[in-house]
Amino acid sequence: IRNVSKIYQSAGRELTVLDNINFSITAGSTVAITGPSGSGKTTLLGLCAGLDRASSGTVELNGIALEKLNEDERAAIRNQYVGFIFQNFQLLPTLTALENVMVPLELRGAKNIRAHALELLDKVGLADRSHHYPVQLSGGEQQRVSLARAFSNQPAILFADEPTGNLDAETSEKVIKLLFDLNKDAGTTLIIVTHDLELAARTARSIKIKGGVIISDENPTYA
Ligand code: ATP
Repeated sequence: IRNVSKIYQSAGRELTVLDNINFSITAGSTVAITGPSGSGKTTLLGLCAGLDRASSGTVELNGIALEKLNEDERAAIRNQYVGFIFQNFQLLPTLTALENVMVPLELRGAKNIRAHALELLDKVGLADRSHHYPVQLSGGEQQRVSLARAFSNQPAILFADEPTGNLDAETSEKVIKLLFDLNKDAGTTLIIVTHDLELAARTARSIKIKGGVIISDENPTYA
């Protein structure tokens, strides 16, 4: 991303949330984005994933400049390359856990969708909750459904916004292992927003933002 800024309009005022951000992330790497609450991490992740548009600057995903695309074209790029784990899960409330995981597979026109979705739910330890609706799942279970959904289309890049934020230590470790296995086995690029500094230390690179600017860009040793 080059010279990226994001300005929100709120109550007739401009709020600069990201101010001239620059970095590039190598395919197949693991990166943590850290920083205090309100520093712009979620906003940055959304821009990188093509969920939202920058106010200025360039965001390229796999060499494709996102700002040149319309909504439909950006959605197509997301379906092709991107998995996203939202901070607040964003599961579809009228669909079961299984059906939520099936959605991206359906969008891609995949085969054996139900069996594959069940396999993914099993991976995150939720095979026995497949017919539950989101409201019938705990926060941590919803988080894991959201993970299975993000994995389902085998994304080249996985963006995860606080993927362990709602989990106990044991489940958190399972989820982290799933994420890093995906990186190791399938070469998936991992970009993780987290407040968990132990998790950040396990990524190959850590970018810290504060007040909308990058204040450090470190490469802690991969654990
Ligand atoms: P947290 O760690 O608490 O999740 P964050 O670093 O992810 O925070 P963001 O969610 O990116 O922070 O928000 C950055 C700032 O932008 C916040 O001050 C927030 O109030 C503001 N903001 C976010 N979305 C909007 C919006 N749609 N309109 C106006 N302001 C917004």
